[in-house]
Amino acid sequence: MARRRTVGEELHWAAEQLRQGSLESARYEAELIVAHVLQRARHELYISAHELVTTADHAQIQALVERRCRGEPLQYLLGDTEFHGCYLRLTPAVFIPRPETEELVELILARSSNPPANLLDLGTGSGAISIALARAWPKSSIVAVDISSEALALARENAMRNGVAERISFLRSDWFSAISGEFDLIVANPPYVRTEYLERAPRELHYEPRIALDGGPEGLDALAQIIRESPRHLRPGGALYLEIGSDQGSRVRELLKHTHAFTEIEIGKDLAGHERFARAVRARAEDVSLGTGLRAAVCDS
Ligand code: GLN
Repeated sequence: MARRRTVGEELHWAAEQLRQGSLESARYEAELIVAHVLQRARHELYISAHELVTTADHAQIQALVERRCRGEPLQYLLGDTEFHGCYLRLTPAVFIPRPETEELVELILARSSNPPANLLDLGTGSGAISIALARAWPKSSIVAVDISSEALALARENAMRNGVAERISFLRSDWFSAISGEFDLIVANPPYVRTEYLERAPRELHYEPRIALDGGPEGLDALAQIIRESPRHLRPGGALYLEIGSDQGSRVRELLKHTHAFTEIEIGKDLAGHERFARAVRARAEDVSLGTGLRAAVCDS
């Protein structure tokens, strides 16, 4: 039988395997995997560097390292992630929340002079956006929808873990299909990746639910539908926030304009300098400067 390894040796071994698997942050990921299996915090690994690892733990580390080398995202292997200071459980039923979406949350918080009384999160997935906003705004009530019941069950569990479940209603809905009423704010990080790009995307993306990424031939299918239907569900003066693809800014601006229902249309960039966010405010009927087209659209809806 092979000699049992120490924690230090195990870390070294795992990092080497991951490096050979062409993973950029091999050492860091090795630490996360070993800490996860040994149920320690990452910094505790160094104090226990000389302890022996059991054969069962080694087998588990080895299995996770092998799966990671084949391209499975680390967040699915560990089963959790951190988003805007919240711990979220993750399964392959939901898309992995990205740092850009944390920026979207920051943008929403920075631009909302008053917390909205109610808001709608379309395609909530793991619940990330709703949970982060619920924590930041303790008086707001939130409706979070998703087409996937599995995602909704996970999002509900995450809301409970973060102590905000009583202020978020989870509802199964294909975008607005099950929604009635008006909101002060609507947010969505819908699928916006072009179908054709997904076919040749990095291997990690193939582990995520396609329905959360595939935005159709131009990546605009879901965005266009949400933009078209949101004026009916936004209170005048309420804001729509969208995450968008880096090459979709001008198309999204056109789609927003085309509704004749929005003012203050803005496209914002992420920290990498790519256009990533759209914001628009539902016009009030008295926004005369926008002309009669707008008045007609507002009155119809
Ligand atoms: N930003 C994601 C990616 O490129 C896509 C997110 C989405 O489609 N909503 O992986």
